[in-house]
Amino acid sequence: MVDVHLRDITKRFGRTVAVDGIDLDVNDGEFIVLLGPSGCGKTTTLRIIAGLEKPDRGRVFFGDKDVTYLPPRERYVSMVFQSYAVWPHMTVFDNIAFPLKIKGLPKDEIVRKVKWAAELLQIGDLLNRYPHQLSGGQRQRVAVARAIVVEPNVLLMDEPLSNLDALLRVRMRSELKKLQRKIKVTTIYVTHDQVEAMTMGDRIAVMNAGKIMQVGTPEEIYNKPQNIFVAGFVGTPQMNFFDATISISPKEVALDAGDFKISLEPRFTELLKGFEGKSVTVGIRPEHIHPSKYVALSEGKYSLVKGTVDFVEALGSDTIVHVNVGSRILVMKLSGSHHFKLGSDIEIALDLDKLHIFRKDSGKAII
Ligand code: ATP
Repeated sequence: MVDVHLRDITKRFGRTVAVDGIDLDVNDGEFIVLLGPSGCGKTTTLRIIAGLEKPDRGRVFFGDKDVTYLPPRERYVSMVFQSYAVWPHMTVFDNIAFPLKIKGLPKDEIVRKVKWAAELLQIGDLLNRYPHQLSGGQRQRVAVARAIVVEPNVLLMDEPLSNLDALLRVRMRSELKKLQRKIKVTTIYVTHDQVEAMTMGDRIAVMNAGKIMQVGTPEEIYNKPQNIFVAGFVGTPQMNFFDATISISPKEVALDAGDFKISLEPRFTELLKGFEGKSVTVGIRPEHIHPSKYVALSEGKYSLVKGTVDFVEALGSDTIVHVNVGSRILVMKLSGSHHFKLGSDIEIALDLDKLHIFRKDSGKAII
């Protein structure tokens, strides 16, 4: 096992910049997720770490060792792909044993290691079967067993669960995470699924257009997004965004959104100094907006906004309410079932402790 460091990695395919100068540090034994939309460079980054792709610029280190130009077989990494590439003409045992046979390990050691990996993946009773006699989930377990049986330095996984049905995905998520905790292999996992990233990653690196936008624990990514991209990419329904102008007077600090005004506590004065009169983007998550009658309105904690109920999504576990406030819609998420009459007046309370404010030019978070 080893720690992995990427320094200024850049990769172009013709005119496309797939990876654009990224730095990343992955600790020994850590489970890190590369999360981002399709085409943002996740797979290319993973392939560069594996040695399947050469960067145009930058360096890859495993511990202190520069492995940038080392071939894949000398890096001791294992990869699991979306399409569980198990060999159809081999039994489960032979599939898992394959990389050990190539290494020329003695037969009894191969048997011992295959059993160890198969037990960890709970496929110990399937060793004599062929892949066509397995379910999709079982086939993916075989692929993971084959990847870990060599006890790699680094385990690389590229959307390994996306071919599985929804229920199985949820089960495999926790199983893979538990397995990784048990064997403590440094793991880099690629997905565009934010729930997978949030539930599995010790840390998440959010990528967009070849760049890393933020690296942090799931909690940091969710609660302290460093820019609009991260704020908008993680969270369902998406964070509400609206433009507002900052005004600071001796009496109050306010965000003027045109249709409504948010008065902030004096403590915001210091944070927003220098932005007076400027337009910013304000963000608030749907779960941080409540009907005002549901909350104890302690002074300064909430800002009240009047609107009408535009649309309601009753999901059973949650109720999503779209509230029309003049020229824009604010989406509110409540847990449980609630009834709202379409078109009725409603007063909503925005939790000011949960407000995010971003610069309009760079999208960087001010608060
Ligand atoms: P997805 O989630 O869809 O797999 P990704 O984030 O993994 O996307 P990459 O596969 O790394 O993204 O691709 C990044 C960019 O590089 C894309 O624009 C893609 O079209 C381009 N690209 C990747 N591989 C090649 C290649 N071999 N030749 C040309 N362009 C490529």
